[in-house]
Amino acid sequence: MANKAKIAEIFTSIQGEGSYIGVKQLFIRFCGCNLNCNFCDTNGISDENYLEFTADELKKHLDNFNLRIIHSISLTGGEPLLWADFLIEFLPIIKNKIYLETNSTLNNNLEKIINFVDIISADIKLPSASGIQNSFAVHDEFFKTARKYDKEIFAKIVFDKNILEDEINHCLKLAEKYNLELILQPKTEEENIAVSPETILEVLDKFLSQHPKTRLIPQVHKYLGVE
Ligand code: SF4
Repeated sequence: MANKAKIAEIFTSIQGEGSYIGVKQLFIRFCGCNLNCNFCDTNGISDENYLEFTADELKKHLDNFNLRIIHSISLTGGEPLLWADFLIEFLPIIKNKIYLETNSTLNNNLEKIINFVDIISADIKLPSASGIQNSFAVHDEFFKTARKYDKEIFAKIVFDKNILEDEINHCLKLAEKYNLELILQPKTEEENIAVSPETILEVLDKFLSQHPKTRLIPQVHKYLGVE
């Protein structure tokens, strides 16, 4: 029997985070997540009014959108890799470029679908900002897999004023080991950046002094008032 996925919403918009900021994408927002970050703005929306699709049904549903003018299809959430068994059936029948937005903790599921993914936007979860503990070793395995398959990948780090030197060092080690572009993203609260300009620049300088491939990019879709 075909696998079904629970999907919270499907829409087109502008990518508001990371290296591909500003491109138009079709977003497929999957329900559920294996984490529970302090700053999560999506984990709670998922489970009441979800849509349910098989791979063929979802492909047909995408005919409602103009897929010729989008840069890529963003698999987002929640955590899309929770739905790897569905994605194994869905991704091979899709012609668009696939952009995976992930919390980078489900390495085994990444292995199942990585051949069908073009770009990976991978979080590094800092305990100080996310409340998620012991994530660095798990991220290490995840980045190892992405590099083994020679995939385009960059790492996104949400931080606030509580960021620790030890956390910065862990991020820098991962960045060096896997040659990652780092995108620092100051935490937002109720649509506003929750980190002072002084702290933002100080944190950026600490990263840049050891890893030139670091950029600071806030979430821009919120300024545009789009999803
Ligand atoms: S990984 Fe993303 S979706 Fe999951 S709890 Fe954290 S912020 Fe929310």
